[in-house]
Amino acid sequence: MIPRCTVGELIDEGIRTTRHCECCGDFADVDLQRIAAVKGRDFSLADRLPFCTNGDCLGMIRFQIHRGLRAQWLLTPEGAARFQAHSDWLFTYRQVQSRRAAQRAARRTPQT
Ligand SMILES: [Zn+2]
Repeated sequence: MIPRCTVGELIDEGIRTTRHCECCGDFADVDLQRIAAVKGRDFSLADRLPFCTNGDCLGMIRFQIHRGLRAQWLLTPEGAARFQAHSDWLFTYRQVQSRRAAQRAARRTPQT
């Protein structure tokens, strides 16, 4: 089980929180103070899966907390399932994209 993980709790307990996008490899510390200022201290990061805003990246961002050497995703089984569903979709989407690209390339090749 993951704790409630409100922004206020993470700040008070001094827990390092990071964000990851598996798709583009983006990794950064989360500015908890900024989120608290915008969303309030009661805003929970558990099961938050915002879309990556990095260029045209199609990934979903996951949050992770770090306690000593232990790192933990802020996901319940339900959130983890949502992330998995997105990953599955992305995999299929990329397969379709590469198939289309191959078809376009084949059309450009002069017929013999
Ligand atoms: Zn990304």
